[in-house]
Amino acid sequence: MNMKTVKRIPILLLLLISNLISAQINKCGTIEYTQYRLSTDPKYAASLMSAEEQLNNYINTKKSSRTKTSSVSSLKIPVVVHVLYKTGQQNISDVQIKSQLKVMNEDFRRLNPDTANTPQVWRNIAADSHIEFCLATKDPNGNPTNGIIRRPTKINSFTTDDKVKFTNQGGDDAWDTKRYLNIWVCNLTGGLLGYGEFPTSSYSNTYGFVVAYYAFGTEGNVNANTKRGRTTIHEISHCFNLRHIWADDGGGCSIDDGVDDTPKQAGPSNGCPKFPHKDACQIDSPGVMFMNYMDYSNDVCMNMFTEGQVLRMRSAIELFYPTLNNPSLCDTLNLFSLNSMLKTLYNPVGEICSDSIIPQVVVSNIGIDTVKELKIRMRLDNSDWEEYNWIGKITTLNDEIIGLPPIMNITNGNHNILFIITQVNGLNILPKNKDSLASTFIAKLDREKLPYIENFESVPFPDSSKIKILNAGGVGWQKTTKSSIEGQGSIYIDNKLNNHEGDIDAFVLPNIDLSTFTGTPYLKFKWAYARKDNSASDALQVLLSIDCGYSFTIISNRTGGSLVTGVNQTGDFVPTTTEWKEAVISLNAYKNNNSIVLAFQNVAGGNGNNLFIDNINIGDRFKTGVNDRLQEKNTTILYPNPVLNVLNIENPFTEPTYYEIINSSGKALMRGTLRQNQTRIEVEALTKGLYIVIFKNSNQLYQKFIKQ
Ligand SMILES: [Zn+2]
Repeated sequence: MNMKTVKRIPILLLLLISNLISAQINKCGTIEYTQYRLSTDPKYAASLMSAEEQLNNYINTKKSSRTKTSSVSSLKIPVVVHVLYKTGQQNISDVQIKSQLKVMNEDFRRLNPDTANTPQVWRNIAADSHIEFCLATKDPNGNPTNGIIRRPTKINSFTTDDKVKFTNQGGDDAWDTKRYLNIWVCNLTGGLLGYGEFPTSSYSNTYGFVVAYYAFGTEGNVNANTKRGRTTIHEISHCFNLRHIWADDGGGCSIDDGVDDTPKQAGPSNGCPKFPHKDACQIDSPGVMFMNYMDYSNDVCMNMFTEGQVLRMRSAIELFYPTLNNPSLCDTLNLFSLNSMLKTLYNPVGEICSDSIIPQVVVSNIGIDTVKELKIRMRLDNSDWEEYNWIGKITTLNDEIIGLPPIMNITNGNHNILFIITQVNGLNILPKNKDSLASTFIAKLDREKLPYIENFESVPFPDSSKIKILNAGGVGWQKTTKSSIEGQGSIYIDNKLNNHEGDIDAFVLPNIDLSTFTGTPYLKFKWAYARKDNSASDALQVLLSIDCGYSFTIISNRTGGSLVTGVNQTGDFVPTTTEWKEAVISLNAYKNNNSIVLAFQNVAGGNGNNLFIDNINIGDRFKTGVNDRLQEKNTTILYPNPVLNVLNIENPFTEPTYYEIINSSGKALMRGTLRQNQTRIEVEALTKGLYIVIFKNSNQLYQKFIKQ
């Protein structure tokens, strides 16, 4: 084979950014993932390109020194497997995980049982990489481990946005990526099997790969076509800088995968082709190398890496992650006979939005004897210790998630919590570091009551206690006075500039209590939007969370024509009064919920124009709203208006009525009960602006006044 120079992949990165792959089967998400990284990190392209250049130089130097891959030393890479599960099926067994490790050690050493299926013509270049893997035996703190972390998640399915790699996003944080190869096993969206992260010129704390649980290992909960564990082989290879064998060039034959000895290929193979399989780039025998791990054939038809691929992979490890070769983290450890460890806290962490919690700790058995009994003490803030006896079974190097008795009546604000193991299998122990666990969390228990109103009048904006703006970077949601349906302000996003397809920008409303509302709760809001032309596909989605904003469900999705309220225009769209429309969404399904969080999300589709939102109301379908219901009935009961010092309210009601004065961002500032005839309210202390008085009785009516 020709070993003179590395074939460059000069426009590889251009291709990564392009949309050429969009027509292909969504089996491996590595290209999609790389595009996601390119779109969210402005430095990513340079870092990828620099790595590619370094790698090519390194390989060329190696080739000129004629190092044969067959004479290279063995590498041993410790692996940590993070299992994220929402269902029992997703919580795959140790047996399934170990079956995957077996395949890794066979395929990378060319010890796989199906090498005979490699066509004769390529057997001389089918290579042993001399790379081996083990489940790590020591964690980053030096404690014994089985290399497997199991964590329940509320996320139904993950995708190529790396949430799975972060504990605070429903995933699990990586172990030191310089010393461990991190594998995340989880449910993935839309039939995706996995995605890997290419090495870059600097270390990445997300480095590793993600695999669907149904494509991991050879036994257990695994699908028929992915039952040979080759998805993992494919994704690891991306981590070691291998590209797809067809080079992701949309069917072309001019660009290759950066490896000398793999034939060029037009597109991915499917199913199980018969040798020789020819395509537009290989019109003669032996055709394409569909049995290569970097193709898309079914697992059962894959069986080889080439020498060129092995050279590229080993070079990538040596250059970018040399300390992954760490045999000492694979050593069998001498364990104490009886030894347990409070490993992690699963609950409470970060923010909670309930006044009661069920604490969950993870206990690891790092001794030889089975742990059958534990005494765990727990203390919230400086309250008295509570002691809990646990009985069960934790075998050597396994973990158990232990739910402790609930803690009730937690108050708003910051808290600390401490757990200590004081007894194991009936024996008192003197707690050491590993037997105790301290943590802090924040209880956010403030709730907005209905009616809730947000009309984007508050200054400064956003009031961070009210609205959180989550912009992807670049153009996002912002307050504007360009147009509003009432008052001066509204919120908008400029989709003329925000035209990177798939970018998501959101704003999130505060926790709202629907449970004390007597009517049927509705969300209403006004919006206005125009397109540049009919190809625009921006979307406005409303999402609802019942777990403090941890996970959301889409309850409304408007896109294309159903989002449009104004005529197509390329200039700055500023809606007239008639170009605002009202959305009405029932929240009846959530009416008993005492804590919901709503989010408004713009998903960029390109070729759009401005999208405005104003007057968000949550309450009764007909009665709520900043439209002045009393004035509609020609009943003015507030005077003087505008007011300087004292506001008088005439009471037209025949039933007991409670009043609340809220500012334009919906915050209640004053409240009380209306006197029978007239109520005088000192408003001197209020800042200048628009206020709303809500009258609460069997009806809910509103009237505005202006403070001078
Ligand atoms: Zn791939």
